[in-house]
Amino acid sequence: MDTDFIVIGGGIAGVSVGARLAPLGRVTLLETEKALGYHASGRSAALFDECLGAPPIVALNRAGHSYHQTADGGVLSPRGLMVVGRAEDGAAFEADRRHMDLRALTPDEAQEIVPILDPARVAFAGITDRAWDIDTDRLLQGFARQIRSQGGRIETGRQVTAIVRVETGWQVTAGGETVEGRILINAAGAWVDDVARMAGLAPLGFTPMRRSMAQLPAPAGQDPRRWPMILGAGERWYCKPEAGKLLVSPADEDPMAPHDAFADDMVLAEGLARYEEMVTAPVTRVETSWAGLRTFAPDRLLVIGFDPRDPAFFWHAGQGGVGMQTSPAASELAADILGGRASELRRMLEASFSPARFC
Ligand SMILES: Cc1cc2nc3c(=O)[nH]c(=O)nc-3n(C[C@H](O)[C@H](O)[C@H](O)COP(=O)(O)OP(=O)(O)OC[C@H]3O[C@@H](n4cnc5c(N)ncnc54)[C@H](O)[C@@H]3O)c2cc1C
Repeated sequence: MDTDFIVIGGGIAGVSVGARLAPLGRVTLLETEKALGYHASGRSAALFDECLGAPPIVALNRAGHSYHQTADGGVLSPRGLMVVGRAEDGAAFEADRRHMDLRALTPDEAQEIVPILDPARVAFAGITDRAWDIDTDRLLQGFARQIRSQGGRIETGRQVTAIVRVETGWQVTAGGETVEGRILINAAGAWVDDVARMAGLAPLGFTPMRRSMAQLPAPAGQDPRRWPMILGAGERWYCKPEAGKLLVSPADEDPMAPHDAFADDMVLAEGLARYEEMVTAPVTRVETSWAGLRTFAPDRLLVIGFDPRDPAFFWHAGQGGVGMQTSPAASELAADILGGRASELRRMLEASFSPARFC
């Protein structure tokens, strides 16, 4: 046996779970691309919004907060999150206000914080401090260092093309070499169902959904660095300051087959129009744009656990739009299950994320 744990996928899901497993046995992580974090994990908005998601996801957010604050000197910096709505967005705004526990602002107060907001268009506004920027590269590289420093192997440029079940575990062929391991961890992002099929298991029905992003120059005469992230009520669009520029997303969710995603011009234009409707600064130029796939299980909760149909096949999948912020606690939960350790996380969350709900 070459290794104990074969992890497929070098995004945040695979790298974080590999880091947690490294003290428990030999880890070999296989990634198609030449660099870690090339797909969804390198394309995120890099926000940690503690209240985002259904209750089990919020529990993961909270459980991982102290890791984000302390690991490698901390990867969080204050951002804040403001929600704004038009007169017709009353119900959507109220739902966001309750869910995120927003402090209400008048349109003029909102404009004092973000001067480009148009008080004639903003009918509702609220803000929370419980949102931070994540240094996602530092987060990912920190987990990767933990794998390597504990003797684990990270093999990039190695696409898994064949998976064979043997009595002792798995034989996995990647980049012309075969690796033998006891347990297979499927952390292949948008490709998780393809990996399951390769291993002879029926897929669980994940849907990759495209989300696009446009980078705009700072509006004339403005310095957006201290602005909060701004969300159109009901997640119709969002805008986030990034290195003195603005990122604007149409908050699109278009189902796609797994691929190297790119932004659709029409989707971007429609999203930019929704953003422009609420601000006094017109969009003059899109400097660059990109898209990534956020992959969801049918119930939009993560899938973490052994497949009930094969005790050596483990899912770490369905991170959707929260894979960065949930990574510390989700990977800890995975390692607790894989290592057979009792823990508070398992007691609270194992059943909610179990793949058994789809098998
Ligand atoms: C625009 C956008 C904004 C987002 N904003 C946020 C945010 O603010 N906060 C947040 O927490 N999350 C956010 N997310 C979500 C977050 O980025 C994802 O949940 C997370 O990156 C998923 O990580 P992953 O490792 O599962 O997938 P990926 O990063 O896609 O990694 C999967 C990897 O598996 C590899 N792979 C697939 N098949 C094989 C194979 N056969 N052999 C070897 N390797 C294989 C792929 O090459 C890929 O690198 C956002 C996502 C997008 C797209």
